[in-house]
Amino acid sequence: MSEARTYGRRRRQLPTATASHHVPAAQKDLAHPEVLSGTVVATGSGATSHGAGWDAMEKAASASGSDTYLKVTEEATVIKILSDGPFDVYNSHWIDEIEEGSKSVRCWGTPECPLCAVGDKAKRFSACFDVITLEDPETPTMKVWEAGIKIARQLKDIAIDPKRGPLNRGDLYFTIKKETKKKSVEYTLERVKERDLYEEYDVEPLSEEALRAFAAETHEWGDRVKELLDHEAMQEVVDLVTGY
Ligand SMILES: [Zn+2]
Repeated sequence: MSEARTYGRRRRQLPTATASHHVPAAQKDLAHPEVLSGTVVATGSGATSHGAGWDAMEKAASASGSDTYLKVTEEATVIKILSDGPFDVYNSHWIDEIEEGSKSVRCWGTPECPLCAVGDKAKRFSACFDVITLEDPETPTMKVWEAGIKIARQLKDIAIDPKRGPLNRGDLYFTIKKETKKKSVEYTLERVKERDLYEEYDVEPLSEEALRAFAAETHEWGDRVKELLDHEAMQEVVDLVTGY
């Protein structure tokens, strides 16, 4: 998810043709929207019109699960966090040579990680939370929110504070928004009490029934939205990085 990428990208020189041929299918992270643009570009040459390309994109988007993730925008989105901690936490490698599919590759998190082994550092941190977004207040929707380290630490502070937490306290909502700066993206998190929700954001609180139904669908600790690449796929990424 591009909004969380705030670190500088290293440029490694590699011939384009080589790079595109080495992208393993497993590398395509279908949960991420940038995959789709890659797919459209790749298949668009045969399309009769650009309209067909956009149709294909929307089709692929709804089929691929790219709706899984909460999209944080410049406008504050009201969310309800469903559990008191992340269900998954990991670091990712950023592989600029990957031209099709997500450039972010989940670090194995062990000394055996092939990318760590060749000296690539996993620089992007993600903490995944189940949230209900009230972006469209009429249609509360459950999403996975991938928070970066700064926001994750703010959430932790609230979670462990008996006066402000837990995160999934019944009367507690949050807003999240982003601001895109020249070289980085800044996120702003705010707590909102249920009683202020309508007045401040024109949003009606969720009914207990709706909350219960959503809460029954949450992930458990250890569930993974972003899968690890297997040895073979990882080796292809390593080859891409090292230029073999
Ligand atoms: Zn790694």
